[in-house]
Amino acid sequence: MTTMGKGLGNRPRRIAVVGAGISGITAAHVLQREHDVTLFEAGTSLGGHAHAVAVDDGRGGSVDVDTAFLIYNGRHYPRFCELLVDLGVNHDTRPAEMSASFADYDTNLHYALARGLDSLFVQRKNLVRPGFYRMFAELLLFRRRAHADMLAARIPESLTLGAYLEGYSRLFRDDLVVPLATAIWSLPGRLVLDYPARAILQFFMNHQLLHGESGDAWRTFDGASGVYVRAFRDRFRGRIRLSTPVVRIERHPRAKDPVTIVTKGERHPFDAVVLATHADDSLALLQSPSPDETRVLSAFRYNTSRVLLHGDPAVLHRDRRMWASWNAVTRYGRTTVSYHLNRVQRLPVTAPDYFLTLDDDGGRRHRTIAKFDYRHPIFDAKAVASQTRVEDLQGKDATFFCGSYTGHGFHEDGVVSALAVTRHFGLHTIRARAADRREEPPRSSVTFEHGAA
Ligand SMILES: Cc1cc2nc3c(=O)[nH]c(=O)nc-3n(C[C@H](O)[C@H](O)[C@H](O)COP(=O)(O)OP(=O)(O)OC[C@H]3O[C@@H](n4cnc5c(N)ncnc54)[C@H](O)[C@@H]3O)c2cc1C
Repeated sequence: MTTMGKGLGNRPRRIAVVGAGISGITAAHVLQREHDVTLFEAGTSLGGHAHAVAVDDGRGGSVDVDTAFLIYNGRHYPRFCELLVDLGVNHDTRPAEMSASFADYDTNLHYALARGLDSLFVQRKNLVRPGFYRMFAELLLFRRRAHADMLAARIPESLTLGAYLEGYSRLFRDDLVVPLATAIWSLPGRLVLDYPARAILQFFMNHQLLHGESGDAWRTFDGASGVYVRAFRDRFRGRIRLSTPVVRIERHPRAKDPVTIVTKGERHPFDAVVLATHADDSLALLQSPSPDETRVLSAFRYNTSRVLLHGDPAVLHRDRRMWASWNAVTRYGRTTVSYHLNRVQRLPVTAPDYFLTLDDDGGRRHRTIAKFDYRHPIFDAKAVASQTRVEDLQGKDATFFCGSYTGHGFHEDGVVSALAVTRHFGLHTIRARAADRREEPPRSSVTFEHGAA
């Protein structure tokens, strides 16, 4: 195996970036400053999970709605906001409405948060239900305890969220924490309880959910995520190959062209490849993965969510006062989350209702517009333990890896992971700065050194 490094930044290289989600877009945007970049994307459009579609705006025109990535936050997405600035996109546009409703038909508990007292007590019996007040008392206790446990590093890596929640009431677990985490990670509740507690609490800590207020509004694009994707496309000087799935990546470390990207019927020579696809896809693309690549990348499992874009209000509570941006409905032990896009994205008042339902229960929906399958990493203990190992793979056989799977699975993580790759090429920041070249190259940056796999 050959390690690529120091020499990388010194002359323009031909670099293939595979996958045009936020991670690939960021890598391509930064690398193009000094290199000849080709971006390969299997889909028909750029953006990956930043995927907007045009729907009727109710006044004779159309409006774009997002079907996966929806919101970001100025404080907690600093690198993503930097990217937006560099792309000339205003990142301080439209605050998203951050409200949530929970309707559990198994326990007959229904309430909404951040929609006013009337929605909190939409079931008037909640006013006199001790369990309901206890649930919020437990929330205060949970926040205090979890914050202290995290600061004292008292939570073992192997402890699952389910185990950490032992001692709390079933109501608190199933009607507050699980639907909240399900909505945050777009994952079925049964998987959320198997997540490592530490990873989830770390996310809550980072987002000030355990202490204090976030202080910065969550935002959504005025015009949906296509706004930044188009801005990238318009500024990109390299080549974009859409509808071009890469089928195989061959590495020949000692050859003049160390990497061959194989697409249907074509072979393309490159000096290096950045895999911005999901970890399991990246592994499957490598013709002869090293034992390290196999060990690290195979640790990430994925869950596929069937996401339905539709206009059927039957997915929400029958009482409109309960309608919120995120709506979790539990029936027969199964929680389904629906986003009310009109609220989240603050669509024009004329627009008919649009909903995005994750893992629909299979009922027939009126006004179905589109269906998508999105894969999301499952951050179990094995995956979390492997995240730090991804850095050890960088540059070996002229191959680099990025993707939101290396962090918490969000847009900010995709940007950060791409920067972890570009710094191997001497490009440390999203925006060009004089210091780029002077900074020390990262540890694995050694000139075409030959080493063991
Ligand atoms: C329903 C849902 C809602 C979400 N909401 C938010 C949100 O509000 N905020 C947030 O920050 N995050 C959200 N996320 C998380 C989101 O997944 C990440 O923010 C991020 O978009 C993932 O980026 P990525 O670059 O890692 O992967 P992706 O966006 O999946 O990009 C990978 C790309 O690789 C391409 N590809 C795959 N195989 C090949 C191949 N062989 N050849 C060429 N190309 C290939 C794919 O087509 C895809 O375009 C949401 C996720 C889901 C599923």
